[in-house]
Formats: sequence, C-alpha cells, structure tokens
Amino acid sequence: MSEKKPCNCANKKKFSDSPLQQSSIKKSLSMIQGYAMAMASRGFKDKKVEKTVKQLRVLSCFGNEQEGGELPPCAHLKKSEVDGKFFCGACGCGDKKGTWLNGSDEEYSKLDYPKLNCPIGMPGFSNYTPSSPQEAVEPQSRKYYIENMNLMDIQKITVSQPDAPPEVAQIIDKMNEISNQNPE
Ligand code: SF4
Repeated sequence: MSEKKPCNCANKKKFSDSPLQQSSIKKSLSMIQGYAMAMASRGFKDKKVEKTVKQLRVLSCFGNEQEGGELPPCAHLKKSEVDGKFFCGACGCGDKKGTWLNGSDEEYSKLDYPKLNCPIGMPGFSNYTPSSPQEAVEPQSRKYYIENMNLMDIQKITVSQPDAPPEVAQIIDKMNEISNQNPE
C-alpha cells in the first residue's frame, strides 16, 4: 500500500467506533463477514496476506476517503514521527518500523502479515468479530459500514502485495508450526 493520509473530515460524525472485542458471534453472517472470517482462517499459508483481506484491513485502519469514499480512518490510527507512516495506537506496540501499518510496494508492513489481530476485531484481521446489532443504529459503526460494503468496492482499494522477506517468512513458518501443535 502506498502512503495514506487520514483526514479529519466531517464524515467522522457519521460513524461510531466499535467497542473492544466481544465474544458473541451473530448467527447469520453477511457476505463480507463470511468472507473475512473464511479468509482469516487461512492463517499463515501464503506468507503474505491474501489481497482482499489486506484491502479489508486497509479499509479498517485507513478508511476510504483517500479513494473518494466516505469512511474516515479508525480513531485509533496514529501518525508516526516518520513522515507518511502510521501505526495502531490501541495495540500498545508503539511507533517503530515493525509496527507501521503502511509501506511502499517493496516494504513488508504490519498489514501484510498473514495472521494479525486488531484490538477492536475489525474486518480483515485474524480476530475479526462481527458487529453487534447496536452498531447498525445511527451513527453506524465503521465496522458495520465495512461489513455491508459491496465486495467489488472493497476490491477497488489500492494495496501493495510485497513478498515476506526471508527472515519474516522464517518467523511465520515457526509460528505456523507452533500454531499447528496447539490448535485452539
Ligand atoms: S489495527 Fe484495528 S484498532 Fe488499530 S488502527 Fe487498525 S482498525 Fe484501528
């Protein structure tokens, strides 16, 4: 994904924030909900996240105002001290190269990892949790909005798909091994 610039547009008022992770799962899932859950379940297989899953992550963190849409960035998105970079202010990882959410075509950023959690369980992340019925009530939550987007609109989001560097691929292999030994 190229450099993203969150803006402080009035659109923010149209959306509410999703609460921290909930355990309840709705019985019926929308197409996007089902897709995100299924793709997240693919886990580490490809050593880089599947493209549409990354597009969902980019929407979750950065919104789509930069693509002409109306969804503002996540309230937890923070600007790095390094120009053009952003990190998640809710996960506690701080502002450093390994935690940046965006990168150039050559850079393997945090959103490229096959398995990645979001503190509020947004679409595209491994711990994605569908929105609660309350989130559909105006102002709708960003999560609910993304869940109800057209898949074709999601697939228009521009993202990069860099290969994992060898050292990252090795770490992912190791994590995969441990995960297979200790399935949830
Ligand atoms: S990882 Fe989750 S909480 Fe953090 S900026 Fe992205 S969408 Fe927001």
